[in-house]
Amino acid sequence: MGSESHQLHVLFFPFMASGHMIPMIDMAKLFAIRGCKSTLIATPHDEPTFLKSIAKTKDSGFNIDAVTVTLPLKEVGLPEDCDNLNKITTEEIHKQFMRAIMMLDQQLELLIEKLAPDCLVSDIFLPWTNKIATKWGIPRLVFHGTSAFSIAGMECVALYEPHKKVSSDLEPFVIPNFPGEITMSRMQLPDFYREETEFTKFFKEAKESEKQSFGVVMNSFYKLEPVYIDHYRTFLGRRSWFVGPLSLCNKETEDKAHRGNQASIDQHEFLNWLDSKQPNSVVYICFGSMANFNAAQLHEIAVGLEASGQQFIWVVKKDPNGEEGKEEWLPDGYESRIRDKGLIIRGWAPQVLILDHEAIGGFVTHCGWNSTLEAVAAGVPMVTWPVAAEQFFNEKFVTQVLKIGVNIGVKQWVKLFGESVKSERVKEAVKRVLVGEEAEEMRKRSKALAEMARGAVEEGGSSWSDLGDLLQELRRQRLAHKKKI
Ligand code: UDP
Repeated sequence: MGSESHQLHVLFFPFMASGHMIPMIDMAKLFAIRGCKSTLIATPHDEPTFLKSIAKTKDSGFNIDAVTVTLPLKEVGLPEDCDNLNKITTEEIHKQFMRAIMMLDQQLELLIEKLAPDCLVSDIFLPWTNKIATKWGIPRLVFHGTSAFSIAGMECVALYEPHKKVSSDLEPFVIPNFPGEITMSRMQLPDFYREETEFTKFFKEAKESEKQSFGVVMNSFYKLEPVYIDHYRTFLGRRSWFVGPLSLCNKETEDKAHRGNQASIDQHEFLNWLDSKQPNSVVYICFGSMANFNAAQLHEIAVGLEASGQQFIWVVKKDPNGEEGKEEWLPDGYESRIRDKGLIIRGWAPQVLILDHEAIGGFVTHCGWNSTLEAVAAGVPMVTWPVAAEQFFNEKFVTQVLKIGVNIGVKQWVKLFGESVKSERVKEAVKRVLVGEEAEEMRKRSKALAEMARGAVEEGGSSWSDLGDLLQELRRQRLAHKKKI
């Protein structure tokens, strides 16, 4: 067989956090389904989750597998179970964790030497992998787990620094040279934009390595944000391929149920519960894998949900500062009162399975990009409650550009622990997204976008074609490289 038709081997290296690993696993599945050999890099702790997520694809005969690298946690002074960003609770541990990740360079080199992949797809938070890919003569693609809107918006803020020209943290500014007259305030920007932090330097390095990489592969689709994709490609000059929504590669119930961590609820229990509800009559509340709320905030949410009179599924993560087994946020007799109306999942929910159920009519979300795009793909309008990262940009995109969401009204970017929101606002926002004319309009727009999302990943759709073009390009690169050696 000539090298043109030889199976392309792509090595996928996700950052160790659920919101980064989940879409990368989906992407590896997608590449395998399109004829590549996909190898995922996992830590020994996460390997079982990876293997469970790819089992069905593998059993169907596609060429996909996982290999491991071991984080040198001891060497940086971290306990053994600190192997995932989701477990990091302080700035100091975060720094040590990032140092341990950077020390994976030799293990990555050994893997590349052994496996001889044709391409490395690695997370934006692994900028040092670019040099290694270059050394071994293979293209590195950056995986950006966000939208073109957010990435281009953030870049325009970094380039033109409008936040330095306003007189207060709350004074709005328009993002310069960015389509749509989008306004932000300094408070909504990540802290490393507002002041020099350790992460400011790291972020610059990551952006630099993005420019030097072969290109960028993103979890979005053209019709969702054509103006911003064009802006990112043309104005900011990034060679990029938009291959999402990646979650749509999970077609069967089983695929959706096995995505990410082990669900903390029996699948049949909540599906039966949802089956008994009218279409679009239940709101789903979940703040992703990182954001966390203290007991006082959880209490406000509980009270607001009950007062809204609406049906709900609410995912509550364990409060890391709370006492084991103590749920002081839960109002007295709450669960017996709301038994028919509400379901609380403590821990991990099979989110895509829930969002895709026809009973779900609204999603209260922290606007992590995966959650946002999963809601788009499921045709579900949102209540936006951003917390950190680029989530305030995603909120603008959902509420002002797509017009499929209402904001709960938080104004301040905070690391991990969200700004306090009173129960009254929860109640009002939940009602707004589920009932009335405005909800109906948003629902119509959401359903139309969901149709477009499905069209994008079907044969001939934009994401299908973008991936095809990318694979073609990678084959050309391999040929050119082979000729050189
Ligand atoms: N997720 C899930 N169940 C949960 C919490 C999160 O399946 O209980 C998934 C969710 O579907 C999404 C990812 O975890 O794919 C979270 O990514 P996102 O970008 O939304 O937020 P992050 O966790 O990175 O803040």
